[in-house]
Amino acid sequence: MRFYLLGYPVGHSVSPPMHNAAFSELGLDHKYSTLGVHPDQLAEIIDTEIRADSFGGASVTIPHKIEIIKHMDELGESAVRASAVNTIEKTGNVLRGHNTDAVGGIRALTEVYGSISKARVVLLGAGGAANALAAELAPRVRELIILNRSVEKAKALSERLDGNTGYGSILDQSVIESSDILVNATPVGMSPNIGKSPVEAEHLHSGLLVYDIVYNPLKTQLQIDADAAGARTLGGLWMLVYQGVEAFKIWTGIEPSAETMYDAALAALEANHH
Ligand code: NAP
Repeated sequence: MRFYLLGYPVGHSVSPPMHNAAFSELGLDHKYSTLGVHPDQLAEIIDTEIRADSFGGASVTIPHKIEIIKHMDELGESAVRASAVNTIEKTGNVLRGHNTDAVGGIRALTEVYGSISKARVVLLGAGGAANALAAELAPRVRELIILNRSVEKAKALSERLDGNTGYGSILDQSVIESSDILVNATPVGMSPNIGKSPVEAEHLHSGLLVYDIVYNPLKTQLQIDADAAGARTLGGLWMLVYQGVEAFKIWTGIEPSAETMYDAALAALEANHH
């Protein structure tokens, strides 16, 4: 069967080596590859490649995560909650959209932090990834504060959530000083803009877990500053791996080895830098 990453541009994605390593370890005769689809061609690709008999499933990334919704026959609960689709499942001729980003992101966080029920969390960003994570975090934590460049987007997101939430400008960072977890869901610090951080280092402290969902570079400037402040850190690669694990289970019904997928993703990322 054929599996794809639908995006534009798709470039040097680590998803093909990550999924192909798991297919190969399990002896499955599947192939996962990138499929760069211009937004104008999305409908046509759905009707051809995605509805083909040989299609097994797909991941969906920027810029299609929202636009793809109208091409799905059904949406799973995770996609409804996140208002975005990152995984397509096909059963017979029915296309069902899911979103595994949030589950993957929360699994990576709780494996490092433990129970988050008493945590005060600051989330930077109100875009696609922030929306997905916020929906899962808000009902589970003591307090969730969303800081965003466009304050009205943070306000709208905060008001949609269940739980104890607040919002503000990304420029008003002093709330981080009384927080337990800081999550960066903005692209600030992502390659090629390494050296940039969304947070003034003076707000970081040793009682904080800094979780940057950016995974390229593996260690962002925010994480470097967090190390210097004595904070614990977590990068975005495990979130990527766990969203892939969830997608793999949806497509095949089999639990793949997360370690195999992590090692393949890491090797591909490191190879991209040489
Ligand atoms: P998105 O929908 O485009 O949202 C971007 C968010 O970042 C928006 O809230 C935007 O603020 C903010 N932002 C952008 N540039 C900024 C700047 N220069 N200063 C301050 N804020 C800025 O993107 P996304 O899909 O949520 O992805 C965000 C990041 O998460 C990307 O780096 C992506 O690679 C990463 N990600 C990682 C994983 C993983 O598995 N590890 C999964 C998904 C995404 P405005 O609202 O004001 O525009």
